[in-house]
Amino acid sequence: AAKAAGGNRWVPFSRALLDAAHDRAELAADLRHAVATGGLHLALQPLVDLAAGRTVGFEALVRWQHPQRGNVPPSVFVEVAEESGTILDLGAFVLESALEALVELQRAAGRSGLEVSVNLSGHQLQQPGLVAAVVDALRRHGLAPGQLCLEVTESVAVADLATARNTLQELRSHGVRIALDDFGTGYSSLSYLRRLPVDVLKIDKSFVDDVSGERADATGAAVLSGIVALSSALGLVTVAEGIETEQSHEVVRGAGCTWGQGYLFARPLSPAQAAAHLAAEAQNPRYRSTTA
Ligand code: C2E
Ligand code: MG
Ligand code: MG
Ligand code: MG
Repeated sequence: AAKAAGGNRWVPFSRALLDAAHDRAELAADLRHAVATGGLHLALQPLVDLAAGRTVGFEALVRWQHPQRGNVPPSVFVEVAEESGTILDLGAFVLESALEALVELQRAAGRSGLEVSVNLSGHQLQQPGLVAAVVDALRRHGLAPGQLCLEVTESVAVADLATARNTLQELRSHGVRIALDDFGTGYSSLSYLRRLPVDVLKIDKSFVDDVSGERADATGAAVLSGIVALSSALGLVTVAEGIETEQSHEVVRGAGCTWGQGYLFARPLSPAQAAAHLAAEAQNPRYRSTTA
C-alpha cells in the first residue's frame, strides 16, 4: 500500500501500517531476506553489578535497519518472525553473534568471566536441536556455559509447559543460566516462578518506574522490595530492568537487587561502543556513560 500510494516513496514504519495484512506479509518477506543476507545486527546493553558499580555482562538485543522503512523495533519484528517461522534463524543469528561479541569484548578488555544474556522465544524452546546447538556454540567459542544466560518470559510455557520445563532443565544441567524476563507483567507470574526452573529473575521496568519521579510512592517501593526479597529467598539473582534515574537506582540497590540494567548506565550499544564502555570503566570504576 505504501509503495502503491506514491511510486517509490516509502512510508516509515508505523503500527497502523503493520496492521494491514499485505504490509505484514511484505515485512515478513523482507525480514526473511534480512536474516539470510546479514541484514540484522546486534546491540549490547551493559548489566551492572549494583554493589560494585561495575559491568559484569551484556544483554544481546537484535536490531533491524530496514532499507526503506528505517529502524523497525524488535517488539514488532520479533512477533513477525514468530508468526512467519523466521524466528529460528533469527535466534541462531543472535546466539552466534552474541557469543562471538563476548569473546571479542573479553579480549579487548582483558577480562574473563563476562556474561552474555540472550532472549529466547517460545518457538526456539520447542525446537528439538536447541540444547545441542547451544552447547556446540559455547564449545566452538571456548566459553564456559555459565557465561551464557538465556532469557525467557512466562509466555514460553503457554504452548507446552512440559517441553519448556524439560528443555530449560536440560540447559541448566549443562551449566547454562536461565532468566525469567519481564517478571511481574504476566498473567500468573508467581505460579510460573514455581513451575519454570530459573536462576535469575528480571524485574520488569514497570516496577522500577514505580519508584521514581512522580510515580514514586511507598506502595511502589514495597512491591519492589517484596519481589527482591522473594527472589533472594529462592536463591535467585535479581536484575532490575529499565533503571533510568538515580532515584530508582538508589531504591533498587537499597532493596538488595543484585544487578541492574538501564539507560542510567548505558543504552544498548554497538559491539564497538560496548568495548569502549568497558575500556572507559577500567579507567575509572565509577565511570558511567549516560550519553552512549
Ligand atoms: P527485553 O528482553 O525485556 O529487553 C529489554 C528492553 O528494554 C530493550 O528494548 C531495551 O532497549 C529496553 N531498555 C533497557 N533499558 C531501558 C531503559 O532504561 N529505559 C527504557 N525505556 N527502555 C530500556 P528492545 O531492544 O526494544 O527490545 C524489546 C524486546 O524485544 C525485548 O524485551 C525482547 O522481548 C525482544 N527482543 C529483543 N531482542 C531479541 C532477540 O534477539 N530475540 C528475541 N526472541 N527477542 C528479542
Ligand atoms: Mg530480555
Ligand atoms: Mg526484559
Ligand atoms: Mg522488558
